[in-house]
Amino acid sequence: MNKTTEGLIELQRIDDEIRSVKKERDELTVNLSSLHKIMAQMGVELTDKRGKLAEVTSFHTDKKLELQADNDRIQQAKSKLLAVSRTKEYQAMTKELDNLRKKHGEDEAELTRLQAAIDDYRASVSGAEGRLAEVQAEVEREQSTSAGRIAELDKLIAGVAEKKAVVKVNIPKEYVVKYERVLERRDGVAVVPCVQGRCTGCRMALPPQVWVKVQLGKEIFQCSSCQRFLYYTVQASQASMT
Ligand SMILES: [Zn+2]
Repeated sequence: MNKTTEGLIELQRIDDEIRSVKKERDELTVNLSSLHKIMAQMGVELTDKRGKLAEVTSFHTDKKLELQADNDRIQQAKSKLLAVSRTKEYQAMTKELDNLRKKHGEDEAELTRLQAAIDDYRASVSGAEGRLAEVQAEVEREQSTSAGRIAELDKLIAGVAEKKAVVKVNIPKEYVVKYERVLERRDGVAVVPCVQGRCTGCRMALPPQVWVKVQLGKEIFQCSSCQRFLYYTVQASQASMT
């Protein structure tokens, strides 16, 4: 096989290797960032729940003061009633006292409802705090296990240009340029074996005379359909048979 095709196969091998490294790195990063998103969302919900708890607690305090005022008014009305002598006035005072007692009853019921709401919100806040703490612990675990691996993968990715540069020295520049272009356009696969007279990149059948030349391996060929570089090896042909 000619040296240029050999070099291109080597470039492809490096790019294949780095693709799986990048995939692993992306998966690790995506996993971490989705955990962070979940955590942020939980934080927002928790803040919302705390806000509602504060609101209902403040309503409860107001209502308690109001109930105290109701009591005072009832006491005042009662002492006034004792001092009243005329029937008409007495009836009016009795009615007022009834109204005050009614309001007192309503405020008392409202206070009970607010207390129940406070209990609910408190339970909800503490549940949300517990879940958030669990996710936080998971994020920390993930981060500590992934961080080392990500650094390792980053190093491999950073080293790829250097590795490719070493191989590129032995390939004419025009083919390096073509290789990179095809690599980008054809989903990272720029060099493929030919098996049984077909390009394994796009399945197109080669003209018989081209197929013969590819097998001889003296020249450099690109598939006329997908532009990928073509080569022939016995191993690749046998591998595709099994
Ligand atoms: Zn092709």
